[in-house]
Amino acid sequence: MQSSLIGKIDKARRYAEDKDRVILTEFEATFQGDHGTHAVSYRGGKWHCSCHFFAGWGVCSHSMALQRLLGGILPVAER
Ligand SMILES: [Zn+2]
Repeated sequence: MQSSLIGKIDKARRYAEDKDRVILTEFEATFQGDHGTHAVSYRGGKWHCSCHFFAGWGVCSHSMALQRLLGGILPVAER
């Protein structure tokens, strides 16, 4: 393997252990809940989920689970 690529792989390993370098700005995900699959997204600093609970409360177990899962790379206000 070329030494320049080996250097990049080593750097990637170090970067992957340093979550403060990355801020997730938006994403979409499907979430397999206990009672069905839901579409969860984070965009413009706002969460959305297709489940009924989120429609009434603006938060749900799916969005909160993803906040925990992605806590290190979400903007500080969303952690
Ligand atoms: Zn939900």
